[in-house]
Amino acid sequence: MLFSDIVGQEKVKERLIQLVRENRVPHANLFVGPPGAGKLPLAVAFAQYIMCENRGKSDSCGVCPSCRKVAKLVHPDLHFVFPTKTKEKSDEGADENSEKPDDTISTWRSAIIANPYFGENDWYEMIGMENKQGIISTATASEIIRKLGLKSFENEFKVIIIWLPERMNNQAANKLLKLIEEPPEKTIFLLVSENPTHILKTILSRTQQVMVPPINRESVALALHDKYNLSPELAHDISRIANGNFYEAIRLKDQESNYFFTSYRKLMRLCYSKNVLGLLDWVDETASLGREDLKHLLVYSLRLTRETLVLNMGVEEVSYLMGEEEAFCHDFSPFITTNNVFSITDELVTAFECITQNGNPTVVLTHMTMRMVKLIPNKKAA
Ligand SMILES: [Zn+2]
Repeated sequence: MLFSDIVGQEKVKERLIQLVRENRVPHANLFVGPPGAGKLPLAVAFAQYIMCENRGKSDSCGVCPSCRKVAKLVHPDLHFVFPTKTKEKSDEGADENSEKPDDTISTWRSAIIANPYFGENDWYEMIGMENKQGIISTATASEIIRKLGLKSFENEFKVIIIWLPERMNNQAANKLLKLIEEPPEKTIFLLVSENPTHILKTILSRTQQVMVPPINRESVALALHDKYNLSPELAHDISRIANGNFYEAIRLKDQESNYFFTSYRKLMRLCYSKNVLGLLDWVDETASLGREDLKHLLVYSLRLTRETLVLNMGVEEVSYLMGEEEAFCHDFSPFITTNNVFSITDELVTAFECITQNGNPTVVLTHMTMRMVKLIPNKKAA
């Protein structure tokens, strides 16, 4: 992971880069901050920068053998420790029964590669233990001590990332404490915590804190626009709701596009096929959304209608669509032209205004759909 892959956090990045360049990396670092701010990706990027064989002024090279291995999270000198599930067989010896990280390491790697902003509960969901808390067992701690006792395989440094050290049981924490007190040479610990008050005080006092604040809104909006092709307006709206949590931002993006897209596509198809009964069902379904969701749906529909016109006019390079949205709007583009687009968007805007002024959703949507069905031709315009 490169520093340039990380959303915002310019100050934190600068500080980390400076530590490496000035040869002052503390042997135990603790990244703290709210969920979704990027503590884990920053730790991985920091590890990559420390281990890079040809590092630049402001980022890893990204192409040296070490960078390539870190990018896939398979570098033999980069170790991960994270909470995993405990088996329920018996309370006694539960620690011994807990799975070692090796069992879940491939899930861990793909989770980070897909979206490293996940939080504790997201992780538990991924490994099938919803509503339960994982632990870092004594067995895991012993395994790490064994690995760190070995010589580095390839790199000058060994880096160990401990995600959620607050989930270590006492025995494991005490083992780790010894290691942090007398660290093997050229070994760097990166602890990443969501709740540092639950970490052993003696461990806390031996780490240097790296504060990771919520990501600023502009950076979230920019990333949504650049990485996911969202329109600047939508990216801005989502960044406001996500409040500096990039995982939440992505979740909102997916949620919005899935539900709203399905609903919009249904509406357009029903209008096209002049299916009035189907439209009344759509109205029933849609009127039961909350007022805020309904407003978002109408804004989303406006955006997609405009995008469809853009495709109709053949100026695809200014389109912000991707995936299913793009495929549908492309197919539907013969039916949204300069002849009807203004009337359709007027209907959507009027409905939005009526909903905002507390209009009855069923009445407003019925009126809107009965007019839209007349506006959408069921033949391609000549
Ligand atoms: Zn490199």
